[in-house]
Order: sequence, then C-alpha cells, then structure tokens
Amino acid sequence: MAQTTLFSRTQIDQRVAEMGKQISADLAGNEVIALCVLKGAVFFCTDLVRSMSIDVAMDFIQISSYGNQKYSSGVVTILKEPQLDMKGKHVLIVEDIIDSGLSMREVFNYIESRGAAKVKTATFLDKPKARKVPFHADYVGFSIEPQFVIGYGLDFAEKYRNIPEVQVLSD
Ligand code: 5GP
Ligand code: MG
Repeated sequence: MAQTTLFSRTQIDQRVAEMGKQISADLAGNEVIALCVLKGAVFFCTDLVRSMSIDVAMDFIQISSYGNQKYSSGVVTILKEPQLDMKGKHVLIVEDIIDSGLSMREVFNYIESRGAAKVKTATFLDKPKARKVPFHADYVGFSIEPQFVIGYGLDFAEKYRNIPEVQVLSD
C-alpha cells in the first residue's frame, strides 16, 4: 500500500486556526458544547477548541459504521452517548470527515432530539462527491476527492491515526 501526503502539518495548523477564529466569531455569546465524534475527530477537535477564543464545554459521542473496512456498512449505531445536558445549548458537532453523510445525519438528528437550541457542524475533511444522503456542514477544513485518507486521527483498521499529516492510502 502506498501513502502520499495530501495536507502537511503547516497546512493543517493554518486551516484549523482559521476555522477556530471563524467559529468563535459566529458562536460568541452562546453556551457552546463542542461534541467530538470519537475516535477519528479527537485530534482535530482538541486543536480546534484550542484555537477558539470563546468558552466551550466538551463532550464525546461514539458511533460505528465502518468496521475494519474502507467502505461504509451504511448502518450507524451509537456506541457512546454524550453526558452533558444539551438543552438550550449551541452544540458544535466536530467530525473528522464526511463521506456518505450517513453518520453526520444520524448524529445531527440525535443531538437535535436532545433539545439543543442550535446544532452546528464542523468537519475537518469533506468528500462532497461521495454523498449517499445530502448533508452540508457549516464549517469545512478541506474538501477532497473521493479517496481514502489516513492520519491526523483518521485510521485504517485502527492504524495510522498518529501520523501527524494527512495522507492518501492507495493499494
Ligand atoms: P459517512 O457516514 O459520512 O460515510 O462516514 C463518516 C465516517 O467514515 C467518518 O467519520 C470516518 O470515520 C469514516 N471515513 C470516511 N471516509 C474516510 C476516509 O477517507 N478515511 C478514513 N480513515 N475514514 C473515513
Ligand atoms: Mg468520524
């Protein structure tokens, strides 16, 4: 398998800092919860909240859909529920990548059902051409072609999450 760099550390740092600034400006004055979608978004989420200048609580949700495959099973189940009360809060769902859109749609609807005042979505990467259901994120780090990427939290069968940059994995 071949690994080629798609986004360097410098590019990632720059873009995440911009996103944090934008989100801070947009959400200022609200009670904000950054809801990190485990496990892939952990790296992006911790960088993102550190680049934000407003107070932000953090919580975590874990869902499953991919198993150890490169392709989605299409079935989304919640493995870990968030702990914080979402009622009246502005919840920013923080995801690593949006592909088919199935996971984000599921998480979005779930958080809305918990009574959040407003649900916003931030994804580090977006593959708009790979959608099976329509989903538009409020904040997108980088839009990419439908290819399989690893690093900066993104895994292949639990491997490669700790690669600091984003790489394309091809066979
Ligand atoms: P979706 O439900 O939008 O099809 O997929 C979302 C989830 O699938 C992401 O949160 C991520 O965990 C996984 N995923 C989608 N595309 C990729 C990819 O290119 N690389 C990796 N490592 N995971 C991906
Ligand atoms: Mg994910």
